[in-house]
Amino acid sequence: MIHRAHDYAHVIRRWRVVARRAGLKLEPFAEAGDFEVFTLKTPASELGLYISAGIHGDEAGATEGLIAWAEKHAQRLARLPLTIFPCLNPWGLTQNMRVNEAGLDLNRAFDRDDVPVARALRERITGEKFALALLLHEDFDGQGIYLYEGFRAASGWGESLLDAVSPIIGIDPRTRIDLSRPKRGVVRRRFDARHRAQLGGIPEAIFLHREHADRSITFETPSELALDRRVAAQVAMIEVCLARVRG
Ligand SMILES: [Zn+2]
Repeated sequence: MIHRAHDYAHVIRRWRVVARRAGLKLEPFAEAGDFEVFTLKTPASELGLYISAGIHGDEAGATEGLIAWAEKHAQRLARLPLTIFPCLNPWGLTQNMRVNEAGLDLNRAFDRDDVPVARALRERITGEKFALALLLHEDFDGQGIYLYEGFRAASGWGESLLDAVSPIIGIDPRTRIDLSRPKRGVVRRRFDARHRAQLGGIPEAIFLHREHADRSITFETPSELALDRRVAAQVAMIEVCLARVRG
């Protein structure tokens, strides 16, 4: 199947259509090389859902899933509690690369002031609180869906979120993923000095969970699978997270 999931200009044109239909404004908040980076926020965004995609450019199922979901709900989007970052690494998406135009993994740069997108995003959401930060990703070694969860509440959502999406793509059976040991596809790990040293910087999820959100979910689909199934799984995850946030 020929698709345009790596065509950033095309993805942004679709976001403009969604924004217009929703009566919202797609706003540029940073520049990344030759690209503008955008955000979209609804009037009811307070204590709602933060969603971002495309911080890694070789994970097109995530950016595509987010726009597909937004197109599906354009008519009612403005009434939902949302802060959206449609694609944080436009250069990477265009090149099908994990890193950004400076060769940097943006998802390890949320403590740095010399990385324009990370810094501008932090400034953009200063003082804001979210019920959930949902970070959409893909894994080229993935054998199914899985997620990382950070939370302060009494119990986690990870298992039930994966159960809801698993009819579309099954849960990753691996018991070891990079440095983590998932249980039924859920990775929960304390972020301490040792973990930080292993990662080499602060990921978006850790930054958000520390300063802006009681709960963070980093969702991963297997990027070797067909795009339409990955998109369907990403859409389903956004829908089930939104339902949980809205109670
Ligand atoms: Zn990723």
